[in-house]
Amino acid sequence: MRKVSIFGATGSIGQSTIDLIARAPDTYDVVALTGGHNIDLLARDAIRLKADVAVTAHEQNLPALRDALSGSGVEAAAGPAALEEAAQRPADWVMSAIVGAAGLLPGLRALENRATLALANKESLVTAGPLIMATAHAHHAKILPVDSEHSAVFQGLVGEEMDAVERIIITASGGAFRDWPLEKLATATLAQASAHPNWDMGQRITIDSASMFNKALEVIETKEFFQVSPDQIEVLVHPQSLVHALVGFNDGALMAHLGAPDMRHAIGYALHWPNRRDLPVDRLDLAKIGQLDFRAPDDRRYPALRLAREVMQAGGLTGAVFNAAKEIALDGFIAGQIGFMDMAGVVEEAMMRLSADSALIHAAMTLDNVQAADHMGRITARELIDAAH
Ligand code: NAD
Ligand code: MG
Repeated sequence: MRKVSIFGATGSIGQSTIDLIARAPDTYDVVALTGGHNIDLLARDAIRLKADVAVTAHEQNLPALRDALSGSGVEAAAGPAALEEAAQRPADWVMSAIVGAAGLLPGLRALENRATLALANKESLVTAGPLIMATAHAHHAKILPVDSEHSAVFQGLVGEEMDAVERIIITASGGAFRDWPLEKLATATLAQASAHPNWDMGQRITIDSASMFNKALEVIETKEFFQVSPDQIEVLVHPQSLVHALVGFNDGALMAHLGAPDMRHAIGYALHWPNRRDLPVDRLDLAKIGQLDFRAPDDRRYPALRLAREVMQAGGLTGAVFNAAKEIALDGFIAGQIGFMDMAGVVEEAMMRLSADSALIHAAMTLDNVQAADHMGRITARELIDAAH
């Protein structure tokens, strides 16, 4: 039996992971499931999958979790220290699907524990890519990408030499507003930004898809995961979301990965790697689809893509500042404090203010220093939002 843990089990990726695991219950020994405020769902899945422990990220939810688990034999725990402890329990495979920088620490602990880390939490690589990769290396632990684009690239590289790779192209649907007139974007509401044309995902990543902050994170994720230079990474708008990524080689070949927009493909690939197993995803009928469209992204519509380039150029801990400021700007938009197009302005201004602090930005890539840069990114973005509000 493979020992597996799922961090962020109650979210969109977590639930898709559970869907796959629950289809073969005799294959998996579930160690830990974690969630946030959705205690009923967390407890239900922990009981159904016979987990050793269920952890809520929030201490105040512990009594409710204990109640929900009483008599089941599943242990209840709460708070950041409990999350960390759960990540230190022996496991063969760990899904990292917490949203935001909060996913970094459990992921690091799982790698220290030599678990194979299925990484959906792209924020880990954006905030602390070199630290994550070095931790995996030091402990001989494997990281497998779960982001659909990165899983597609990873699959395109099987049997290939990295020296032969000229470029990596990740596609973007263009999000909810890809066909809106530019001047209308400033008026986009929360409900409009929370509806994705192709993918069914958590609310935060859905809004990040509309603003392309998600793609900005993914460009940085590509650089960190595949260790390529920024000028080898391209973003291509592809409204149908059927081609997930392409790898361009030095002989001119372009290898594309196609599949239905269903995260269970990338999750299942990481679960069964290095093998492939039958997965419950739709098969594409290309004759029926008929046409695939591609276009270059418009920088005026998607300032986040320009910011991603600036992050990679600035280096150091700029990624931690960028991600933290983005999380706060997103909170500000969700709370109605700033408009849709103001998010990029807040992030850019926070990055600019902190770029002068060389001791912060160019400190060694340790967990403490990453957390300090993250903290300053949050405070600065919060000040900017409060001043504008
Ligand atoms: P979601 O919002 O649906 O779920 C997030 C999960 O994290 C929940 O279980 C929630 O309880 C938990 N969580 C939230 N805040 C937390 C905190 N502070 N501490 C501990 N746990 C916390 O998110 P999602 O869409 O499943 O995305 C999860 C991650 O996967 C994100 O990093 C996202 O960018 C990435 N991802 C998602 C998709 C997708 O299709 N949903 C695709 C690619 C990558
Ligand atoms: Mg993606």
